[in-house]
Amino acid sequence: MPEDEPLQKYRQKRDFSKTSEPRGGEGRESADPIFVIQKHAARRLHYDFRLEIGGTLKSWALPKGPSTNPRDKRLAVPTEDHPLEYADFEGVIPPGEYGAGTVLVWDSGTFRNLTEKKGQPIPVEQALAHGHLSIWLEGRKLRGAYALTRFKQAPDESWLLVKKDDAEADADQDILATRPESVLSGRTLEEIAADAGY
Ligand code: MN
Repeated sequence: MPEDEPLQKYRQKRDFSKTSEPRGGEGRESADPIFVIQKHAARRLHYDFRLEIGGTLKSWALPKGPSTNPRDKRLAVPTEDHPLEYADFEGVIPPGEYGAGTVLVWDSGTFRNLTEKKGQPIPVEQALAHGHLSIWLEGRKLRGAYALTRFKQAPDESWLLVKKDDAEADADQDILATRPESVLSGRTLEEIAADAGY
């Protein structure tokens, strides 16, 4: 399966006899591409933002998480592509394994590519390559338009995730604090860890 190629890095980093994370490669059939944001209590707490593009989940780590405030510019550091099945992964990655710590599905839903240039729509793969994506998130917590923009090239490739100033923007709410729970199970990080016996 040639579409497995992007998952090579993902698989190299993990021992699937020890972690319950999916190996990936099953694929998915649906019209609307999905997005997911996973809260990950690894060595440092962060949020992983993932967009379904080209059959995998393109991924960025957000050290400070997403925001609903258009004034917040949230750093987004690219990480390896993840399999589509990862969108449902919630649980504990065992100590000593890559990314050890608790993972919670903080938000999920679908997204629409809004990227355009001079009024012409730009395909999402092209927008990604160009380093500027304009997307509409239709999640259970996050809604509305966001810009994802690369501001630094490799080897320190860095992007920014910024809420666009639309009707869904909310400068007064800290959604990470008001909605800490999983959209999959309603559990907190602590409850997920306890349920897994940690
Ligand atoms: Mn992570």
